[in-house]
Amino acid sequence: MFGGILNAEHRARFEAARAKATIGQPSRAICGAKTRNGGACQHPPVTGFSRCRKHCGPKGHRAVRERELKALGKGKLPFEDWVRREDRRAATRITERWKKDPWAPGATLSLGKHEAPFCAEMAAQGWAVPDLPPSVADWARWKYRRAFIDRRQPDIWTRATEQMADRVARAGEAPFGHDLSMSGTTPPPVYAVPDKLSPYSKRRRLDRKPVEQKPQEAPPPPFADELADLMEKYADGLEPILLRCGSDMARLVVLRAYDRLAASKHDAAAYDEWRAALQAARVG
Ligand SMILES: [Zn+2]
Repeated sequence: MFGGILNAEHRARFEAARAKATIGQPSRAICGAKTRNGGACQHPPVTGFSRCRKHCGPKGHRAVRERELKALGKGKLPFEDWVRREDRRAATRITERWKKDPWAPGATLSLGKHEAPFCAEMAAQGWAVPDLPPSVADWARWKYRRAFIDRRQPDIWTRATEQMADRVARAGEAPFGHDLSMSGTTPPPVYAVPDKLSPYSKRRRLDRKPVEQKPQEAPPPPFADELADLMEKYADGLEPILLRCGSDMARLVVLRAYDRLAASKHDAAAYDEWRAALQAARVG
């Protein structure tokens, strides 16, 4: 009724549950795989595995997919979410394949009506998109989207064009018999830039206003601790009266008076104070 935490036991249970999910807490389960900078991976493990999604390997990935499929069957996972997850897996499959074969046909992103300006921009740099390794063309499309569609930051594109030659060189020669017309038989790209933006799209609003600084939270009133202590002791019994109080200060007056009365039931002054506090709460 008065804020989230009801009593000491509730707080203890809340803190224990929070510690399990808070990064850096020793009770939080982490993956712990060795990372490139020498640390341990901090992501939570996949249920039934000791490693996270990134580090659990194909067995873990299969388990995650099986579980999602079951959830879909039981109606616990919306169909759209299932499709989105399958799409993401398909995109990951292509990118993983490109690590071994940069010339493998496929794409993860369709630029839609932006494809023509993209090709023109590439031609201006001396690159013919259809002749590029599909992996490099896909990478360039994502860069183009970042620089000109999602945002207006041409320097992203400038940096990308500086890397282009290097990436093409690393991909090596096209394998013998490589037929680019084959790319028509590959599954369509998973991600697409819509021709029309949603009016609610925040990410693609080109002329974004700078984020306003949130005002600092007001410091808690000096009596906050006392109020919390008294609330914990008496909130259950005094709830009907406390509900009638308009402010924390009014609640504090009632609680203080009750505390004094509880300490010395035969103290006439305490009794008067309690009656006055009740009166005030009733009027307020
Ligand atoms: Zn991990």
